[in-house]
Amino acid sequence: ASWFGHVEPAAKDPILGVTEAFLADPSPDKVNVGVGAYRDDNGKPVVLDCVREAERRITGNMNMEYLPMGGSIKMIEESLKLAYGEDSQFIKDKRIAAVQALSGTGACRLFADFQKRFLPDSHIYIPTPTWANHHNIWRDAQVPQRTFTYYHPESRGLDFSGLMDDIKNAPDGSFFLLHACAHNPTGVDPSEEQWREISHQFKVKNHFPFFDMAYQGFASGDPERDAKAIRIFLEDGHQIGCAQSYAKNMGLYGQRAGCLSILCDDEMQAVAVKSQLQQIARPMYSNPPVHGALIVSTILGDPELKTLWLKEVKGMADRIIGMRKALKQNLEKLGSPMSWEHITNQIGMFCYSGMTPEQVDRLTNEFHIYMTRNGRISMAGVTTGNVAYLANAIHECHA
Ligand code: PLP
Repeated sequence: ASWFGHVEPAAKDPILGVTEAFLADPSPDKVNVGVGAYRDDNGKPVVLDCVREAERRITGNMNMEYLPMGGSIKMIEESLKLAYGEDSQFIKDKRIAAVQALSGTGACRLFADFQKRFLPDSHIYIPTPTWANHHNIWRDAQVPQRTFTYYHPESRGLDFSGLMDDIKNAPDGSFFLLHACAHNPTGVDPSEEQWREISHQFKVKNHFPFFDMAYQGFASGDPERDAKAIRIFLEDGHQIGCAQSYAKNMGLYGQRAGCLSILCDDEMQAVAVKSQLQQIARPMYSNPPVHGALIVSTILGDPELKTLWLKEVKGMADRIIGMRKALKQNLEKLGSPMSWEHITNQIGMFCYSGMTPEQVDRLTNEFHIYMTRNGRISMAGVTTGNVAYLANAIHECHA
C-alpha cells in the first residue's frame, strides 16, 4: 500500500501559472504584467544600491549565530519607528509587543495564530477583494472569516458607504484586516478624510484594526505618508496590530524580512504578548533568519543609508506613477471612449483595470500579454518600451 497515494496535486497558484505561461511563450512582443515584484524600465529585477552597500558593510562582519527568538532587536526598533513614527510615545512607553517575522506573510500568520489562541471565538473581517493569501492564512490558523465591502466595480474606486455599513453592522468588537496603503489587488485606498471616518466608526464599534502594510513607501514614494492611516488610528487611541514587510519597499522579496507588532495597554501587557508570540514561533521555525534583518537594520540605522533608501523607494514609486500616467495617456490618444481615470487614481503596484476574464484571455491569446484573469495589471511590469503596445492591446480588447 502506498502512504501517499491519496494525495492529489494542490490547486495551482493563479499567479505562478501566469508566469509559467509567459516563460513558455516564444513571442518577442510578450509582456508580463502578472508579477507582484518591482521591475526597472527594462523589465529587470532591481537590487537597491542601499541594499548592496549594506551587504558590503555586513560581509565578513557577521557571525551565523541564532537571533533571539523574537528576532533582531535593532531591526524591530527601526521597524516600529517606521510604522508608528520616529518619536512615537508608544515606543517610548514600551507599549508595543513586536517580533521579527517571515516577511509580511509570516507576520499575518503569526497574528492569526495569536488571535486563534487568545481570542478563540473571534472572527476576522477581510475586504472584498483582497490579496488571495489573506484567506489562506486565516483559514489555516482556523480563524473564521467574514468579508466586508470594499471595492466598487462601476466606479473602479472605493465603495465607501458599503464599507461603512459593513463596519457598523459587524458585531461590536470585531477584528478587521485593513490594507494600510496600496490595497492589493485594487490599488484603491480610502482618502485621509475617509480613514478618519473609518477610524471613528471603529471607535464607536470597538473593533480591532489589524493593518497589513506590505507597501510602505512604495505607494506614494514617502513612507511617512503611506503610514497615514495607521497614524490616524493611533491618534484616535486605538490599539492596533501591524504586519510590516520589506519585500517591496526594500526589494528584499526572498529575504523574508518583516515585523509583527501589537500595541498593548501597557509595558507589562506588551511583555506578555511578545512572549506568547515567540512561543507561537518556536515550534514553527524557532527563530527568524538573520541576513535580511541585518540588511534592514543596517540601512535604517544609518542616516546616510536611510536617506539613500528614501530616495530609491521614491524612485520606484515615481516610475510606477509615471507608467500609470503613460498608460492612461496612450489609451486616451487611441480615442478610447472609456474613462481611464482609475488608472492614475489607483495607487501602488497594481491597477485593477476592470477588464473581464474574457478580455484578459484575448490580451493573452492575441497579444501575448500575461496577467491574472481578474484584470489586475502589475504596473511594475509596464515600461516605456511596452506601454504603447499594452495600451493598444487593451484598446483592441475593449472594441
Ligand atoms: N500583504 C499583501 C497585501 C501583499 O500584497 C503581500 C505581497 O504580495 C504581502 C502581504 C506579503 O508579502 P511578503 O510575505 O513577501 O512580505
